[in-house]
Amino acid sequence: MATQKMLTFVSTPREMPEKRAAADRSEDFHEIYREFAAAKAAEQSSRCSQCGVPYCQSHCPLHNNIPDWLRLTAEGRLEEAYRVSQATNTFPEICGRICPQDRLCEGNCVIEQSGHGTVTIGAVEKYITDTAWDNGWVQPFKPAQERAESVGIIGAGPGGLAAADMLRKQGFQVTIYDRYDRAGGLMTYGIPGFKLEKDVVMRRNQLLADSGVEFVLNCNVGEDISFDAIRGKHDAVLIATGVYKTRDLDLDNADHGGIVRAIDYLTASNKVEFGDDVPDFDDGELNAKGKRVVVIGGGDTAMDCVRTAIRQGAQSVKCLYRRDRANMPGSQREVQNAEEEGVEFVWLSAPGAFAGHVTGIAAEAQERDVDGLPQIASVRIQKMRLGQPDVTGRQSPELIEGADYDEPADLVIKALGFEPEDLPKLWGVDGLEVTRWGTIKANFQTHQTSIPGVFAVGDIVRGASLVVWAIRDGREAADAIATFLTGDARIAAE
Ligand code: FAD
Ligand code: SF4
Ligand code: SF4
Repeated sequence: MATQKMLTFVSTPREMPEKRAAADRSEDFHEIYREFAAAKAAEQSSRCSQCGVPYCQSHCPLHNNIPDWLRLTAEGRLEEAYRVSQATNTFPEICGRICPQDRLCEGNCVIEQSGHGTVTIGAVEKYITDTAWDNGWVQPFKPAQERAESVGIIGAGPGGLAAADMLRKQGFQVTIYDRYDRAGGLMTYGIPGFKLEKDVVMRRNQLLADSGVEFVLNCNVGEDISFDAIRGKHDAVLIATGVYKTRDLDLDNADHGGIVRAIDYLTASNKVEFGDDVPDFDDGELNAKGKRVVVIGGGDTAMDCVRTAIRQGAQSVKCLYRRDRANMPGSQREVQNAEEEGVEFVWLSAPGAFAGHVTGIAAEAQERDVDGLPQIASVRIQKMRLGQPDVTGRQSPELIEGADYDEPADLVIKALGFEPEDLPKLWGVDGLEVTRWGTIKANFQTHQTSIPGVFAVGDIVRGASLVVWAIRDGREAADAIATFLTGDARIAAE
């Protein structure tokens, strides 16, 4: 057995897997980081100082046993590393790709605090499980014992899928309903392929199907089947529907053609990458090719939009954000990637109005418009400065009078965040309590809602959040559902 000494961070510098050159990666939707070579993964893992109290682990929402799988990787014991890693995480290779590690595990790695650069935890986690897939160590499972009780899960995003995995391992009959034609939620149709290639998600869906989870796709609960009918079919129900209502802009001419929602734009792009027919892409509405694109927002969704527009061949891509770089919610790593790919950030700027008739381009664009609304031609940009901190300590943007200007645009993408739909009303459910933000009220630990036997997880409870938190919720809810159905605290899994 190979052995690799640990604590090499003093002599071995931090290295990420190779990043593809911007010119090369801007042409396609493949992931931008290449895989570690085996020796490099071992070397980078050996930098870990094997902390007695590992802050990386306590700041990982899944409390992954990071020092253990780093040591096993450093020693070349990859199958064992995989077993340890998958024991706490349903989708380790997905989290390794898309968790904001700088805010979670890696951001709390002690060797970074001592100036040596954090251990590349996410890249190693991805490497371990990708290797497990390549070697056939990831296989469909068979529960030790089948159980009669059934659970209906509404929503096949990470929250619903993580719960399905844990419940099925305990022998329950699990059916997942989703309104889309493919499972995976935002991992499939929100997050672009350059962060998370789609076959990585599809092979997970297939694994669950091969392990006995039933998928009912193209089924919009509330339209194709009622919530009550689902409750009638199953002994417990889990709501994991995410949040999809786009925050909007109350501005002049916000209804012009060419002003689109980020979720529609990204979903269309992901569908095109699957090879699907997407009429709104083919007719140009959701296609940035040749256009001057303005994206409004400073979060990770905005980053995904600007980088998608670059890959679609936009003439120019500008991102408007009303605060400055240091105060944006999106990850700095993604901003850097976007800048390398040719995106221009227009800091301290907010849209004031839209115009559709200002230039010759508008007339030309109007000819293409099928719905009879004027096409967007420009965005009135208002300049801001940062004022006094508010109660949260964040400086509020203030308008600079008289500094407005018009920015020509053929496509404007609104990426201002998401809110929950009004599920009790949409589904006609009495007694399903929501918070004042419209998210579903659920017990913090059991995830049970105000209706006994109905549980809820992920973004529909937390508000727009992260994949890793949805996974954690789903795994915890699975245990609570098992207890609800059987009275046993935890049934032996596979
Ligand atoms: P979702 O993933 O939203 O899944 C919900 C599912 O429920 C969907 O498949 C939907 O079709 C289905 N559904 C909804 N209503 C119904 C209904 N009535 N009937 C049937 N089915 C229904 N997080 C990260 O950690 N890293 C990232 O890099 C990252 N990037 C992101 C980029 C974008 C563009 C967006 C929008 C989000 C990103 N997130 C990221 C956030 C992350 O994707 C979400 O926090 C996570 O997917 C939430 O999981 P969920 O299971 O709660 O919901
Ligand atoms: Fe880090 Fe996310 Fe993996 Fe946890 S799940 S170790 S936070 S990358
Ligand atoms: Fe290793 Fe860093 Fe975690 Fe310590 S905090 S165990 S050095 S990865």
